[in-house]
Amino acid sequence: MDIFIEPIGKLINEFSKLPGVGKKTAQRYAYKIIGMTDGEARAFAESIINCKRKVRYCNVCGNFTEDEVCEICKRRESSTICVVKEPKDVIAMEKLREYKGVYHVLHGVISPMEGIGPNDIKIKELLARVNGGGVQEVIMATNPDVEGEATAMYIAKLLNPLGVNVTRLAHGIPIGSELEYTDEVTLSRALSERKSI
Ligand SMILES: [Zn+2]
Repeated sequence: MDIFIEPIGKLINEFSKLPGVGKKTAQRYAYKIIGMTDGEARAFAESIINCKRKVRYCNVCGNFTEDEVCEICKRRESSTICVVKEPKDVIAMEKLREYKGVYHVLHGVISPMEGIGPNDIKIKELLARVNGGGVQEVIMATNPDVEGEATAMYIAKLLNPLGVNVTRLAHGIPIGSELEYTDEVTLSRALSERKSI
């Protein structure tokens, strides 16, 4: 028999699906929700529904957007494309307030161990953008781990014959770490010292 009454047990179960949330934390979250006013709880629930209803992927770069094309693609210099693994990496780069180009979100990296091949991530779409013309530089900003490096090299091999300068964030980002957790000074230096590959 479950020690929680059904609605609470269910809510705890939902919270425990979130990354880094164990049973104990999920229980605290659930009790917090129960302690909210009806209005607060409704606003919380609605913001979840709203995100699912309104957030989509940009048709051009694959980042999150509410429209067909995101604000970055609409407004920014498109001769430089920064290639990242996930939408959260766009946020890490944007925090620097230095980068003026556009992005391309791969939605993963090549990982033979996990059965993820080149066709499973948005490489075709990147090639199409470069083939469309006007692109001078593609910055490979995948994480400096084994998969991120391999993916960067794989894409560089495809893009180099197209006459575009392919660069890689400079070392300095600890090997095996993620863009998201790299401090801004280090990431900023890695960006400004990027090298052709
Ligand atoms: Zn976009």
